[in-house]
Amino acid sequence: MKFATRAIHAGQEADPATGATITPIYQTSTYTQEGLGEHKGFEYSRTSNPTRAALEACLAALENARYGLAFGSGMAATSAVLSILRPGDHIIAGDDLYGGTYRIFERVIRPMGITIDYVPARETGAYQAALRPETKLIWVETPTNPLLALVDIAAVANIAREHGARLVVDNTFATPYLQRPLDLGAHIVVHSTTKYINGHSDVVGGAVLTSDEQAYTDIKFYQNAAGGVPSPFDSWLVLRGVKTLAVRMRQHCENAMRIAEFLAEHTLVRDIYYPGLPAHPDHELAQRQMAGFGGMVSFAFDGTRADVDTFVRHLKVFALAESLGGVESLCCHPASMTHGSIPAEERERRGVTDTLLRLSVGIEDADDLIADLDQALQAVAATRSTAISGAAR
Ligand SMILES: *Cc1c(COP(=O)(O)O)cnc(C)c1O
Repeated sequence: MKFATRAIHAGQEADPATGATITPIYQTSTYTQEGLGEHKGFEYSRTSNPTRAALEACLAALENARYGLAFGSGMAATSAVLSILRPGDHIIAGDDLYGGTYRIFERVIRPMGITIDYVPARETGAYQAALRPETKLIWVETPTNPLLALVDIAAVANIAREHGARLVVDNTFATPYLQRPLDLGAHIVVHSTTKYINGHSDVVGGAVLTSDEQAYTDIKFYQNAAGGVPSPFDSWLVLRGVKTLAVRMRQHCENAMRIAEFLAEHTLVRDIYYPGLPAHPDHELAQRQMAGFGGMVSFAFDGTRADVDTFVRHLKVFALAESLGGVESLCCHPASMTHGSIPAEERERRGVTDTLLRLSVGIEDADDLIADLDQALQAVAATRSTAISGAAR
């Protein structure tokens, strides 16, 4: 079956107990057993729950994975993958990571005796050069956050495989609709289902998908041991959200392209980051590796932090908010919001400057989104000309 069909049906046969067409919310912690050791496959809901199991099967089907595991957040999914490491192990990570991933690497994993080296995300050779005998994981996001650089998944997967390490791809930004890392040779996919997978900004959740049996066994062990699982209701909401992933992603991509083209032409915009633009340094790789260019657009003002503040205050349709991937458009200031936990010099060095904004382009009418950006940019231009005439006086 093709993607859009799997998103609606995989793991979601009619309920065996009642025939309910939609997977029920099995809001139960425990399950009555017939006799000693005799049950229907469920004993306790930290270990497994039918609503969660349906979600896990559906997400696995979308990533072409043999196994799926759902978590209570993207970070719970990330920490479950990291649980397979032991003191002395080494991680190579792309350098433009979700702030929370950087935080768990630096503040939780490193103090446990695991070392991490960051390499420029788009430089394939840098991953090879950073390998050490104790390298166990290579960890990448692509497109990266917030600068939307691409990692050549197939090439980095090869480097990992030849070394006997595993490549983990955080596929949150692209979603399996646009990019399937396991098909390209990656070993483990991580998602914050909070974002596009659920798509309605009403759940925090995560998932791990893999066809690597040993990794699955170890991560599933940790899922049950540590217990960072999603509730039955949240599992159900994500199952409901993911049904429309294909249509949503098509609209996100279409709207984002129009907005990127609009911003690229604007005099107040200094840099624009969108892999769909032919001028983007990874445009060719994006065409090869992705089925569309995604809904995230970042841009930097030719101006000051004060201009950024004027701009965000004037937005009416775009909300100034963290997160991404919902049907509604959001605007985020990475330096003070999502990437606030990265030290300032480190941030600037990576290009996450004070005038950078990241848009999560929703699926509203693109004309309204462009009009909103346009009027907020005009407000910036107006404050600037007032400041100039004031100075001349
Ligand atoms: C949001 C996000 C995470 C963390 O997910 P939570 O659901 O917020 O815990 C990890 N990676 C990326 C790329 C994200 O955008």
